[in-house]
Amino acid sequence: MSIKWSEHACKYNLQNEWNDTLKEAYLYDRLSTEHKVRCRLCPRNCVIQQGEVGFCKVRKNINGTLYAQTYEKAAHVAIEKIETEAIFHYEPGADILSLGTIGCNLNCSYCQNWSLSQAEYANPNIISQRTSEQIVNMALKNNIKILSWTYSEPAVWFEFVIDTARLARKHGLVSLFKSAYFLSEEATDMIIDAADLFAVSLKAMDNKYYQTHTQGWIAPVLNCTKKIHRSGKPLEIENLIVTGLTDKDSEYIKIIDFVKKELDESVPLHFSSFHPDYKYVHLPQADSSHLERARAMALERGLQYVYVGNVFENVGLHSYCSQCGTMLVERFGLNSRVLETLDRSGRCVKCGKNNNIKLKP
Ligand code: SF4
Repeated sequence: MSIKWSEHACKYNLQNEWNDTLKEAYLYDRLSTEHKVRCRLCPRNCVIQQGEVGFCKVRKNINGTLYAQTYEKAAHVAIEKIETEAIFHYEPGADILSLGTIGCNLNCSYCQNWSLSQAEYANPNIISQRTSEQIVNMALKNNIKILSWTYSEPAVWFEFVIDTARLARKHGLVSLFKSAYFLSEEATDMIIDAADLFAVSLKAMDNKYYQTHTQGWIAPVLNCTKKIHRSGKPLEIENLIVTGLTDKDSEYIKIIDFVKKELDESVPLHFSSFHPDYKYVHLPQADSSHLERARAMALERGLQYVYVGNVFENVGLHSYCSQCGTMLVERFGLNSRVLETLDRSGRCVKCGKNNNIKLKP
């Protein structure tokens, strides 16, 4: 039997089991009428009545105060490779501690993590309480230097991400924030400050597509992405190629041109393969020929680092020097091997070009 997250949380509140983990939201306004609040975390700016939750299903108005019910509530914790997050230019092969909760401020019809992102379908039994200290200690104990906020949309446990990332930094750890970046400007500023590297899941370059298939809209996503790029912190972009929807040359070109003109031709771009899921189980998996075509077009148009994703063996998985074409990092699936052609500072040994690949210490 599925239990709605809001009901689930209420149940625990009544039983007083997790009361102390409710956290007052960082970004919201109290409205003057009937204990209503307005959330400022994402562009929806949900106005939430007493006892109700916002679109994301996990931020709740209790007596005129907005709470993050997800605080310290982890739905998935795992040790993975950094390549899982479509990050290829930061410490290839590094272990990451991946962390996710439930809920999402979008509702993508093809969501690959829908059993977490769509909170009403989440199994409450998978949720465990983890404090910031426990997470940092888990990373340190396993000699992991990177926390990855991922799976469903990490913005929905924003307060916990911010608090844990700040603590983690004091212990020499870094935070990777993998998000659709459908965030408010002030939330973006806070996450840029707290996190250290950024993976943007850019669905398409078309507002109608966002409205139809994600229930969001595109302008905030592009603004956030440009803002992160201006911050100078490491950023990589991933586009999921969805069969029959975004597997078109015209769509590839729009994304390529955005990266080239609004960001920089050196920002890594990943084209990844969709697999049938959630409401779009009728669509076949995106064929690797589409990924390869998109990659070839991006390279032709001047992007320097273009990859394919969700495939095991492909020339588009490897990193090459953007100047002389020498292979620098070899990959098979999510495994990577840094070659002797790449020096410790990220330069190609053959031609000296700096390819902006940060290696593990
Ligand atoms: S984070 Fe959730 S509650 Fe807040 S505005 Fe977005 S969807 Fe609404």
